[in-house]
Amino acid sequence: MPDQFEGGCLCGAVRFVAIGQPKGVYWCHCQSCRKHSGAPASVFVAFEHAAYTVTKGQISRFDSTPGRTRRGFCARCGSTLTCESASLPTETHFYVGAFDDAARFAPTKHVFAEERLPWLHMS
Ligand SMILES: [Zn+2]
Ligand SMILES: [Zn+2]
Repeated sequence: MPDQFEGGCLCGAVRFVAIGQPKGVYWCHCQSCRKHSGAPASVFVAFEHAAYTVTKGQISRFDSTPGRTRRGFCARCGSTLTCESASLPTETHFYVGAFDDAARFAPTKHVFAEERLPWLHMS
Protein backbone atom coordinates (compact mmCIF):
# COMPACT_ATOMS: atom_id res chain seq x y z
CA MET A 1 0.00 0.00 0.00
CA PRO A 2 1.80 3.16 -1.15
CA ASP A 3 1.87 6.28 0.99
CA GLN A 4 -0.91 8.75 0.38
CA PHE A 5 -0.75 12.45 1.20
CA GLU A 6 -3.89 14.58 1.18
CA GLY A 7 -3.94 18.34 1.10
CA GLY A 8 -5.79 21.44 0.07
CA CYS A 9 -6.22 25.16 0.54
CA LEU A 10 -7.46 27.00 3.60
CA CYS A 11 -11.09 27.26 2.42
CA GLY A 12 -11.36 23.72 1.08
CA ALA A 13 -12.27 24.73 -2.49
CA VAL A 14 -9.12 22.99 -3.75
CA ARG A 15 -8.21 19.46 -2.62
CA PHE A 16 -5.54 17.12 -3.93
CA VAL A 17 -3.95 13.78 -3.13
CA ALA A 18 -0.41 12.60 -3.86
CA ILE A 19 0.62 8.94 -3.95
CA GLY A 20 4.04 7.50 -3.17
CA GLN A 21 7.16 9.14 -1.86
CA PRO A 22 8.01 12.71 -2.95
CA LYS A 23 11.01 13.28 -5.20
CA GLY A 24 12.38 15.75 -2.70
CA VAL A 25 11.60 18.04 0.21
CA TYR A 26 13.55 21.28 0.49
CA TRP A 27 13.72 24.79 1.84
CA CYS A 28 13.61 27.63 -0.68
CA HIS A 29 14.94 31.01 0.40
CA CYS A 30 14.36 32.92 -2.85
CA GLN A 31 12.66 36.29 -2.81
CA SER A 32 10.08 35.20 -5.35
CA CYS A 33 8.79 32.48 -3.02
CA ARG A 34 8.82 35.00 -0.19
CA LYS A 35 6.59 37.34 -2.17
CA HIS A 36 4.20 34.58 -3.12
CA SER A 37 3.91 33.03 0.33
CA GLY A 38 4.44 36.01 2.60
CA ALA A 39 6.65 33.76 4.72
CA PRO A 40 10.39 34.34 5.32
CA ALA A 41 11.20 30.96 3.75
CA SER A 42 9.25 28.14 2.12
CA VAL A 43 9.38 24.37 2.25
CA PHE A 44 8.41 22.51 -0.91
CA VAL A 45 7.45 18.88 -1.51
CA ALA A 46 8.11 17.74 -5.08
CA PHE A 47 5.85 15.24 -6.84
CA GLU A 48 5.74 14.10 -10.45
CA HIS A 49 2.60 15.23 -12.27
CA ALA A 50 1.55 11.58 -12.56
CA ALA A 51 1.83 11.10 -8.78
CA TYR A 52 -0.94 13.50 -7.76
CA THR A 53 -4.54 14.28 -8.59
CA VAL A 54 -6.56 17.42 -7.92
CA THR A 55 -9.71 15.92 -6.42
CA LYS A 56 -11.72 19.10 -5.89
CA GLY A 57 -11.75 22.51 -7.58
CA GLN A 58 -8.70 23.67 -9.48
CA ILE A 59 -5.34 25.24 -8.82
CA SER A 60 -5.26 28.77 -10.30
CA ARG A 61 -1.91 29.73 -11.78
CA PHE A 62 0.19 32.84 -12.18
CA ASP A 63 3.35 33.10 -14.28
CA SER A 64 5.71 34.84 -11.87
CA THR A 65 8.56 34.54 -14.36
CA PRO A 66 6.86 34.05 -17.75
CA GLY A 67 8.14 30.92 -19.47
CA ARG A 68 10.08 29.82 -16.40
CA THR A 69 8.13 29.82 -13.14
CA ARG A 70 4.43 29.31 -12.57
CA ARG A 71 2.81 29.61 -9.15
CA GLY A 72 -0.39 27.99 -8.02
CA PHE A 73 -2.97 29.22 -5.52
CA CYS A 74 -6.62 29.03 -4.59
CA ALA A 75 -8.59 31.74 -6.39
CA ARG A 76 -11.15 31.83 -3.59
CA CYS A 77 -9.07 32.05 -0.40
CA GLY A 78 -5.64 32.94 -1.81
CA SER A 79 -3.75 30.06 -0.21
CA THR A 80 -0.38 29.43 -1.80
CA LEU A 81 -0.30 25.88 -3.16
CA THR A 82 2.34 25.13 -5.78
CA CYS A 83 5.38 26.21 -7.75
CA GLU A 84 6.33 24.78 -11.15
CA SER A 85 9.56 25.45 -13.03
CA ALA A 86 10.30 25.02 -16.72
CA SER A 87 13.60 23.42 -15.71
CA LEU A 88 11.67 20.56 -14.04
CA PRO A 89 8.75 20.19 -16.48
CA THR A 90 7.38 16.92 -15.09
CA GLU A 91 7.14 18.06 -11.46
CA THR A 92 4.86 20.12 -9.27
CA HIS A 93 6.31 21.44 -6.03
CA PHE A 94 3.71 21.85 -3.30
CA TYR A 95 4.08 24.20 -0.36
CA VAL A 96 4.43 21.88 2.62
CA GLY A 97 1.74 23.81 4.50
CA ALA A 98 -0.83 22.81 1.86
CA PHE A 99 -0.73 19.23 3.13
CA ASP A 100 -3.11 18.24 5.92
CA ASP A 101 -0.27 16.60 7.84
CA ALA A 102 2.86 18.60 7.00
CA ALA A 103 4.75 16.87 9.81
CA ARG A 104 5.09 13.81 7.58
CA PHE A 105 7.65 15.63 5.43
CA ALA A 106 11.08 16.77 6.53
CA PRO A 107 13.22 19.01 4.32
CA THR A 108 16.70 17.73 3.54
CA LYS A 109 18.30 20.66 1.72
CA HIS A 110 18.27 24.40 1.11
CA VAL A 111 18.05 26.12 -2.27
CA PHE A 112 18.76 29.79 -3.00
CA ALA A 113 20.59 29.84 0.34
CA GLU A 114 22.29 33.05 -0.80
CA GLU A 115 18.91 34.83 -0.61
CA ARG A 116 18.22 33.65 2.93
CA LEU A 117 17.18 36.46 5.26
CA PRO A 118 20.10 37.34 7.55
CA TRP A 119 17.99 37.12 10.71
CA LEU A 120 16.58 33.71 9.86
CA HIS A 121 18.57 31.22 11.91
CA MET A 122 17.79 27.56 11.61
CA SER A 123 19.27 24.57 13.35
ZN1 LIG B 1 -9.30 28.04 -0.95
ZN1 LIG C 1 11.87 29.96 -4.21
